[in-house]
Amino acid sequence: MSFEELVKNLKYLKDAELEKIKKAYFFAREAHQEQKRYTGEPYLEHSLNAASTLASWKLDAEAICAAILHDVPEDTKFSIKQIRKEFGKNVAELVDGVTKLGHIRIKKSWFPFRPSKKETLADFERQVETLRKMILAMSKDIRVILIKFADRLHNMQTLQAVEKESQERIAKETLEIYAPLAHRLGMMELKGILEDLAFPYVYPKEYKWLSQLTIPEYKKREKYLKKVKKILEKKLKTSNIPLLEIHSRAKHFYSLYKKLLKYDKDLSKIYDLVALRIIVPTVEDCYKALGIIHADWKPLVGRIKDYISMPKPNGYQSLHTTVFCEGGEIVEFQIKTVPMHEQAENGIAAHWHYTEQKISNKLPKEKLAWIHQLAKWQKSLRDPKKLYEDLKLDFFKDRIFVFTPKGDIIDLPAGSVAIDFAYAIHTEVGNRCIGAKANGQLISLDKPLANSDIVEIITSKKKSLPKRDWLEFVKTSQARSCIRKLTA
Ligand code: MN
Repeated sequence: MSFEELVKNLKYLKDAELEKIKKAYFFAREAHQEQKRYTGEPYLEHSLNAASTLASWKLDAEAICAAILHDVPEDTKFSIKQIRKEFGKNVAELVDGVTKLGHIRIKKSWFPFRPSKKETLADFERQVETLRKMILAMSKDIRVILIKFADRLHNMQTLQAVEKESQERIAKETLEIYAPLAHRLGMMELKGILEDLAFPYVYPKEYKWLSQLTIPEYKKREKYLKKVKKILEKKLKTSNIPLLEIHSRAKHFYSLYKKLLKYDKDLSKIYDLVALRIIVPTVEDCYKALGIIHADWKPLVGRIKDYISMPKPNGYQSLHTTVFCEGGEIVEFQIKTVPMHEQAENGIAAHWHYTEQKISNKLPKEKLAWIHQLAKWQKSLRDPKKLYEDLKLDFFKDRIFVFTPKGDIIDLPAGSVAIDFAYAIHTEVGNRCIGAKANGQLISLDKPLANSDIVEIITSKKKSLPKRDWLEFVKTSQARSCIRKLTA
């Protein structure tokens, strides 16, 4: 990857911003000089690759500069101070954030944060602390995590050049920390790619087994779906439904593996091995296209999913259906609009380049997960800088992250109290709640929780009931409705 190639992908930026990026490039080139990466490539190859990933998400100039400079303080004689002097406070803080996250080293499997027998409690506590750090870094500036993602992606793409002992550790960390975080931020495409890159290193035998089992099947399916695609294109055309794109989409390998484990390793039970994805201009077209598909191909009972009117908790929207298609073969279709597609692939990163679409008014607001607060920034999206400011303020302003004693993250509206937390865990935990601790200290049930508190709920063994006066201080609708139901 050359600088010129990177610049080709930065056409969405202004000239002055490109100048700054060029300056960052010269600075990094000077700093890394003849340094080579373990792959043997010039070091800058890595920095430019990370920057290019961010460009594909249309991130702002500060983030691109920081990506180019991200390994300068750690690996060269140039310091963060010099970066601040040359590129300003914002870029320096991003680079610093990425450098600090780089120190996270995790040896053992700890996602979802349950200590295994071999691990001591101290190990475990350190791991939870690590996660807390990541969440806090993220809540200060989400771009730090996005740069870290881009960095990790390229490291994974070049993992074959790393010494054997480190490969598994890095791949495992990718599988257990980065991929779930990407998932949490709605970046499903990145999540799939990271998992697939890590899979052969963490589970080599299983990977081999799966490849042998599925590759011939994948090929067969692809060939068959090419035919189906042509037929469907014709059908949509005669019905005057505008089609933007239709492509077959192989399931990511690692997610296929996990699914197979659930289905007795029986490949014939996996209907979405390769699905057909249809992209149309409007929501109305989505439903029309679904009608066309069902007109000739009988849907399987219980397999029609309307995630447009009922989005998944991470905000995913689409129509899914599985039908008996040509020749009786079972095929899954996914129908969505462009914003839905981009949102599904790139999650939070997709919001940097939404300019025209007004998806916000189409979304049933009360049902949306927190990540969809993003939707209300549609208006400010024309200006990446403004967007970022809003993002920084809004994204975490109204949310707090707290932890269970086992280290699971629960995110709640700011101002939430222990009772909200209890109901977020389980209705019964809420109903039986008689007390709470934050970070080991008893707290009163009406005390607002703080970001990164470790919260423990004390429950009664007997059936105890929620109290009506809890309604005066709970924040979540979930807690509210449970309390209302039982105290009415
Ligand atoms: Mn790096």
